[in-house]
Amino acid sequence: MGKYARVIIDISTRALDHPFTYLIPKELAASVKLGSFVEVPFGFQVRAGFVVSIDTELTEDAQGFEIRPISAVLDDKAYWGQELLDLTRFMSRYYGCTWLEALQAAIPAPVLKNIMGRLHTKRAPRRRVAKDNQAPSVPVYPALRLTAQQEDALLAINESCQGGPPVLLYGVTGSGKTEVYLQAVSQCLQAGRQAMVLVPELSLTHQAIQRYQGRLGSAVGVLHSALPIAERRERWWAMQRGELQVALGTRSAVFAPLRNLGLIVIDEEHESSYKQENAPRYSTRQVAYKRARFHNAGLVLGSATPSIESYYAAKQGHYRLAVMSERASGQCLPTVHLLDMRRRSRGSKMIAPDLAEAIRQRIADRQQVVLYINRRGFSKYLQCNDCGMPIGCPDCSIPLTYHKAKGQMRCHYCGFTMPPPDICPNCQGTNFLHGKGGTERLLNEVAALVPEAKVLRMDRDTTEKVGERERILSEFASGEAQILLGTKMIAKGLDYPQVTLVGIINGDEELNVPDFRAAERCFQMLTQVSGRAGRGQIAGDVYLQVYAPEQLAVQAAINHDFAALYEAEIQQRRELLYPPFCRLVRVIASGADEAAVWEQITALAEYLRGQRTMTVLGPVACPLERLQNKYRYHVLCKCGAVQAAVDTISDYLTALAKRRKTEGISFAIDAEPQSLS
Ligand code: ADP
Ligand code: ZN
Repeated sequence: MGKYARVIIDISTRALDHPFTYLIPKELAASVKLGSFVEVPFGFQVRAGFVVSIDTELTEDAQGFEIRPISAVLDDKAYWGQELLDLTRFMSRYYGCTWLEALQAAIPAPVLKNIMGRLHTKRAPRRRVAKDNQAPSVPVYPALRLTAQQEDALLAINESCQGGPPVLLYGVTGSGKTEVYLQAVSQCLQAGRQAMVLVPELSLTHQAIQRYQGRLGSAVGVLHSALPIAERRERWWAMQRGELQVALGTRSAVFAPLRNLGLIVIDEEHESSYKQENAPRYSTRQVAYKRARFHNAGLVLGSATPSIESYYAAKQGHYRLAVMSERASGQCLPTVHLLDMRRRSRGSKMIAPDLAEAIRQRIADRQQVVLYINRRGFSKYLQCNDCGMPIGCPDCSIPLTYHKAKGQMRCHYCGFTMPPPDICPNCQGTNFLHGKGGTERLLNEVAALVPEAKVLRMDRDTTEKVGERERILSEFASGEAQILLGTKMIAKGLDYPQVTLVGIINGDEELNVPDFRAAERCFQMLTQVSGRAGRGQIAGDVYLQVYAPEQLAVQAAINHDFAALYEAEIQQRRELLYPPFCRLVRVIASGADEAAVWEQITALAEYLRGQRTMTVLGPVACPLERLQNKYRYHVLCKCGAVQAAVDTISDYLTALAKRRKTEGISFAIDAEPQSLS
């Protein structure tokens, strides 16, 4: 029986980010466990805390201090106990966040709030029976007979579940990856274990959920952050109690409280949304890897366009590579036609004549069309024709987007809006030019081109209302509408056999983003969008409008040639020393006082250079220099091992925080960043 408990208090600051020691009173001895939530005195306050160790003797750092007793136990379920402790401890160290921040990521806010809310009141936790988790009638989705390639992939996954290496499943669009996951999960359940299936936010569609529930029935619990709070809490508790065997969800579902995990599936593993972009800036792949290790569970990363880093890891033998190079239907991959958009006059249509003709043809043949464009709104910016200045956001260093239907200029970073100006704030000119078009303008053009067709637009503006996205998709699925146009919301996951034509408007714009992964991302996007075409009986065509047709990413996408892209990228990264040939850690400093931000980040960069353990690039202004009226600067550290670099940076920042040197400036450590903006 331990006498002392070390407790993480619910105050998240770097300076206080360590456990505090408390006495365990005799009457609470039975209920204070590793992972319990407790109520403790802290200064003159009462706070909630999380028990991270139980000791029989005082640790050295606690000696000489007054040791006060724990005043109450808020929840003694211990959740997933040791695993949660180890995992969040690892996250706080690896991602350079506080332990509390890691815990807050691992336990959903509604659940945590519920527990913390018991402070002082000491209510016994309420037990509610989980509501029926299923939509009442999900059509049964029977198992399909696997192709030989699917059989091989399933075999590799089963071996992974039995202690074999993780599997990287590289399966072209339409190769039937979902069927493989479904059968692997079924077998895992039959063996008496639980499974987790993670998909990107935009792929968690009704269609996807129905496939899982239609096959696996009420064992499946869907978890994502857009669920109503009460439902999210109930479902989490149902998993905690062992009533659900499969967690199907987005990024945060990687923390589903399953205690007998046998298999973790990460679909579309290349997706950058698997990295959380605020603290804790964790990678879902990494957390999944840790959890799989803890449970001796299988792990499969699937994609039609694996990330360069994962593919390299597979080639190095860290993953077992399973390849599905053919579509399950036997249909071939779509033919990609390149449309060179150079030398087209300013003010010409967004849709090139060849694509326009193809759209007309498909509509006449009663087939369906998907049109992809990389931005919403009417036009990218409004530019003064006299002085050339685009109308920008007053708080962020980006141009405002013109939304015609709402009659608004809008900032896509901070949400600032204003009416379109009559006169240029810079030169008082009154003539404005429209920048490149977005979804709104494309819709107008398509409507004029094929007035007889029903066109649906799907972007963040048309899907604000809950359920709107599903309504649009089901209208398209039923064939009521013939054309679906939209942003990346339509790029992946959709499996509609009547789609025989895909048009891509600004196919290579992604290449202009200042990021070493730009070519990789461009290729992934082109391949994923193209993959919506020709999934049924009729072969598909893709029309790809680009300005730089000779770029490798574009050529590789046309030829469905992942290998060419991989070889070129890997060679370049080796030469320039980028991942996977080094590890990156990015530190961002931001604040309203530009000079102070610059001073702090420069001091940090000098300190890090002085350590001689990493290569430090910068400091420089971030590509997104100003956001919500804060100036942003960053340094990029290239190192051999992430942990050592993060430790060095964390120690420096903790010392700064203790000396209160950083008021008004916030620092963010981003270990293995996915975004460099
Ligand atoms: P991916 O995720 O690899 O792009 P999906 O899993 O969506 O592909 O499958 C594409 C289509 O192929 C789906 O309509 C699916 O029902 C079908 N399919 C998958 N496996 C088989 C199979 N073994 N036999 C026949 N059809 C299959
Ligand atoms: Zn803004």
